[in-house]
Amino acid sequence: MNQKLEADLRYKRIIYKPNNPDPNRQAIVFTGGIHGNEPAGYTALESVLSNLEQSGISLQGDVYAFGGNLKAMEANKRFLTIDLNRLWTKKLVHQFKTGEISSSVWGEEIEEFAELLSEIEHILQFYHNKVIFIDLHTTSSKSVPFIPINDTLSNRSLALNFPVPTVLGIEEFIDGPLLSYINEVGHVALGIEAGQHEDPRSADIHASFIRLCLHFTRTAIVPASRVQQDLAALKAACPTLNGIYEIWYRYAIQPNEKFRMTPGYSSFSEVHAGQELAVSEGKRIFADRATRVFMPLYQEQGEDGYYLIRKVSKRWLLLSAWLRKSRIEVLFAALPGVHRTAPDTLVINRYIARFMSKEISHLFGYRIQSSTQSHLLITKRDLD
Ligand SMILES: [Zn+2]
Repeated sequence: MNQKLEADLRYKRIIYKPNNPDPNRQAIVFTGGIHGNEPAGYTALESVLSNLEQSGISLQGDVYAFGGNLKAMEANKRFLTIDLNRLWTKKLVHQFKTGEISSSVWGEEIEEFAELLSEIEHILQFYHNKVIFIDLHTTSSKSVPFIPINDTLSNRSLALNFPVPTVLGIEEFIDGPLLSYINEVGHVALGIEAGQHEDPRSADIHASFIRLCLHFTRTAIVPASRVQQDLAALKAACPTLNGIYEIWYRYAIQPNEKFRMTPGYSSFSEVHAGQELAVSEGKRIFADRATRVFMPLYQEQGEDGYYLIRKVSKRWLLLSAWLRKSRIEVLFAALPGVHRTAPDTLVINRYIARFMSKEISHLFGYRIQSSTQSHLLITKRDLD
């Protein structure tokens, strides 16, 4: 971005960078405002990182913080031409680098993407250890704070430090979020959805989360009293929810469908069997079992009506951790109906390998890339 333009903007690309970076230290990278109508994360990064000394926080590792979609933030819009958090796939990164993508396709966002990618790649090349990425967001609907992750063991173990619910599986419904890309290139990445966009508490939740990230990743020494206050603040924001949830259903709105979410739901709302969830084309839609609603759609635009989530049992978490470490799944590729097409990718013929359901794929740490009646395409999430 040219300097004149940056000087005119309220938001800056670089919120914080280490003075003397050291490749042997632990590095942590925060991004805020990758969606332009979600400034709470950016504001919190600015306030926490400009007050480190006064807060008694002493850095032990290298901390980076970047502003996301600066021009969209200025306009208070999610994006201007294209969602900056849907462009992070290996394929699109490659096409961008080879010049196959122009600003006529990505509009203003191409410049935002170019700058962020260059910062991120520089960091990934520089550090010897895995880098930890934290992407700060807020939601359009009312919600308690939660941590979306791709289900890798290292993401899981970091996420479980926080007294807010963790949600697995969003990446199977969303193409190209930054966090999935970071996982794909072998690093650790957590998201945080701090609450509703306009809720003034969202920036406070972000600030607590940022300090706790510094603490749990040992990139800073944070005073114990501060850690306790921040843990209490997160806990107070979602007193009855913790542990890990997974998305098991997505209601996809068809083009031109008249969809209306039944009023009164927020993320994690409990529903009982037979409860009305939404109305589509005048027909009421009911829950077929007791479950929880997640990210209900109460704005005009969007393709996802609502998701349904369920709690993941401790037993499942332990079993899946053990299976992934045991590497038993290397035998899968040798089974009839299962075909390895790349080191981390399997194609499964569902008529032959009927046992390989989505649930078993998840247990072994695979992500469903695409699914048809006859085939599943799955990719490995754990690159440890
Ligand atoms: Zn967002």
